[in-house]
Amino acid sequence: MSISFHIDSISGPARTGRLLTPHAAIDTPVFMPVGTVGSVKGVSQDILEELGAQIILGNTYHLYLRPGVSTVRKLGGLHRFISWRRAMLTDSGGFQVFSLNELRKVTEEGVTFRSHLDGSSHFFSPESSMEAQIGLGADIIMVFDECTEYPADAARVRASMEMTARWAARSKKYFEEHKHEVPWTQGSAVRDQGSETPASPLTLTPSPSTQSLFGIVQGGMDRALRKESAERTIEIGFPGYAIGGLSVGEPRELTREIIEATLEHLPKDKPRYVMGVGTPEEIVEYANLGIDMMDCVLPTRAARHGLLFTSEGKVSIKQARYAQDSGPLDPNCACRVCQRYSRAYLRHLYASNEVLAQVLNTIHNLSFYLDTMRRVRHSISLGEESRFLSRVGSRPKS
Ligand SMILES: [Zn+2]
Repeated sequence: MSISFHIDSISGPARTGRLLTPHAAIDTPVFMPVGTVGSVKGVSQDILEELGAQIILGNTYHLYLRPGVSTVRKLGGLHRFISWRRAMLTDSGGFQVFSLNELRKVTEEGVTFRSHLDGSSHFFSPESSMEAQIGLGADIIMVFDECTEYPADAARVRASMEMTARWAARSKKYFEEHKHEVPWTQGSAVRDQGSETPASPLTLTPSPSTQSLFGIVQGGMDRALRKESAERTIEIGFPGYAIGGLSVGEPRELTREIIEATLEHLPKDKPRYVMGVGTPEEIVEYANLGIDMMDCVLPTRAARHGLLFTSEGKVSIKQARYAQDSGPLDPNCACRVCQRYSRAYLRHLYASNEVLAQVLNTIHNLSFYLDTMRRVRHSISLGEESRFLSRVGSRPKS
């Protein structure tokens, strides 16, 4: 037993559900904050818990380079190392290798790349990515795929999609042979019921626990190739499916079209995850299309640049117009930042380049994203999908 997924309510194509993982239950659709090197930048684990984050991401590429998989394994796996009792997901390292390494060399066997830290040479293959992700020990891990660049010609997209399919089969084979090597001892997983709805104790104790490996659909912006990629990935067989290769520079309308087209071919009874999206409006839109899981660096990265998402639109806190604004950042936000501090103070912290500016801005943005998903789940469960979508879409922009 590794994960189980139950759909609680359906409204049009959208659904709410519960994803039970070895470490915690997750209410879906869910937004997953990104903790690249084992830290959601600027926010401590206790505050993530307070904000209601049920699952966070770690990036295999970064953790493999530093502190190294064997170190994390010796310390009991990522959960113990970073002191996070809820669920975690790691990516395969593929996306970072492709996006951070201009000197990479791709062959059928895998990818040779240079560390962005010290220039040293490394090699990732489906097998070594699985080995690293098993050693890190997240609840959900991802197949090693090639994220096809945009734009790309038809022959290139097909070749890339086909290689991803072959790599998915190799990933699964290695995972099945080695999944027992995860650095949890049976019963050591500390469960945290950071969930809104109580579940029966029986369903929360899957045993013995193993990780779950998700497949990834590629195929660029070509609907036929997306369909073929979905079919080939489903044929290999995974407990969840991701849509990868989006948010790589294509127009937003195209992202939506490809998500919608790909969803048609994915099993309805399995979790469906869009990787690397999006704005608050987009995550609402995709949840309403039937997506269950999303992750993005946008709320945390934007926060560090002083760009804040609020119920009244975007706020660029660096602007002089906020210098004497004694009001809260977002009058409709219940987060600890909006309850306590003024726009003037947040603007002053940012202008003074204080570390606290990044911390407070990140707490608010994550709170806004997680709260947005809470409201989406609530409205889907009430069958109010279209109303919520139009309300978010009509938010004034500043
Ligand atoms: Zn707030």
